Amino acid sequence: MMQSHQRFDTVLIANRGEIALRVVRACREMGLKAVVVCSEADRDSAYARSADQSICIGPSTVSKSYLNQNAILLAARLTGAGAVHPGYGFLSENTRFSAAVEAAGLTFIGPDANAIATMGDKIAAKSAMVAAGVPCVPGPDTELASEPQAIRKTAADIGYPVIVKAAGGGGGRGMRVVLDEAELLQAVALTREEARKAFGTPALYMEKFLQHPRHIEIQVLCDTHGNAVWLGHRDCSMQRRHQKVVEEAPAPGISDVLIGPVGAACVKACKQIGYRGVGTFEFLYEDGAFYFIEMNTRLQVEHPVTEETSGVDIVQQQLRVAQGETLSMEQGNVTCIGHAIECRINAEDPATFMPSAGVITALELPEGEGVRVDTHVEAGYKVSPYYDSLIAKLIVHGRDRTDAMQRMRAALASFKLEGIATNLPLLRELFEDAAFAEGETDIHYLEKWLKTRG
Ligand code: ADP
Repeated sequence: MMQSHQRFDTVLIANRGEIALRVVRACREMGLKAVVVCSEADRDSAYARSADQSICIGPSTVSKSYLNQNAILLAARLTGAGAVHPGYGFLSENTRFSAAVEAAGLTFIGPDANAIATMGDKIAAKSAMVAAGVPCVPGPDTELASEPQAIRKTAADIGYPVIVKAAGGGGGRGMRVVLDEAELLQAVALTREEARKAFGTPALYMEKFLQHPRHIEIQVLCDTHGNAVWLGHRDCSMQRRHQKVVEEAPAPGISDVLIGPVGAACVKACKQIGYRGVGTFEFLYEDGAFYFIEMNTRLQVEHPVTEETSGVDIVQQQLRVAQGETLSMEQGNVTCIGHAIECRINAEDPATFMPSAGVITALELPEGEGVRVDTHVEAGYKVSPYYDSLIAKLIVHGRDRTDAMQRMRAALASFKLEGIATNLPLLRELFEDAAFAEGETDIHYLEKWLKTRG
């Protein structure tokens, strides 16, 4: 499905916080007007006021504001916006929303509804990747049968341990690891029931469970004329409960020779499915091999590390592609320089991880060469309990990884935030850890480190 290339001069941002501000900045740099929708809780925030226009669309509860499709479409109509940028989270991967935006004659800044739907169904996504030659986790790209005999055979063919996953799953939910045949049928039944309740479809699939992988992902950028490039890779293995905490680009210790063919396969997959806009292919990496797990059909929280190394403004590129422009770069012009690291600064207790709400009484942000802070907060800002705890992203860029790590330590040390609890003390400690400094730690490292440190 080709998008009509209506040019637009006003973008409605259907999101909040740092990412809304990030998109406002890109619009401004391109001479576009930015409209921000906001809830009652965000109405008086400086970030909302910094847009050309802000419009309150409902109460603080997300279902009544940031997830309220009708209110957002009405706001677009009232403000004369020609395009909608969904940011990440909220409605960014909602097929119905992207279709409704386009049906209203507006441009959805993201892929078309079909691409979102394919990638949102993990079985369909896996089979599209197999067809494009993207390496996937061993296991069939078809729905798991319901007969016990067939389930046992699938597991035995893959070899234990296996993981049973819901086709409609997301957010780290709807999957179960199975160590041996004794637990198999019960695990399948439980996951199927959970999937039916949580995702509206009981469809499951099964694959090999990898025991010590790293999370490595590839950023792609595609226009509506069949051109696509990949902008290098990121390592997001530092996670707690499947939530990324620190991200970096490039992934340490991964040679171009090793990842080059994987990037090329991602580009080929984009061309095959007629993908447009930005996207991320997520892989598990273990013992020298990559295994596709999912594609995110939106801008990601960690996009700045790729911006820093590639020199490409990813949000501006999204806007250009949505205007129908042809990509201004070819793969041969993409060069990644140095090393970038991002820390997610969360309003949460560093020991219990409980979200902390309240007023930021004092704020001093780190600055200097190679230091970037993407944030919507300021002194006096009230952190609301209604939303995600991410309040700032601290990004550094250095000559190499050692240089970037050193720069991050200094930036974390000079980051002063008072009034609410944050994970800053934890991040400062993590950057002193020898194994992390060495690089190449797996996705379980952070949780183990949290348990064992004094
Ligand atoms: P979601 O859409 O819920 O985020 P993913 O398929 O991306 O689901 O998986 C989330 C996380 O679950 C991965 O980052 C990884 O930690 C773990 N995981 C998923 N599949 C496997 C697998 N085959 N082997 C090991 N871990 C896995």
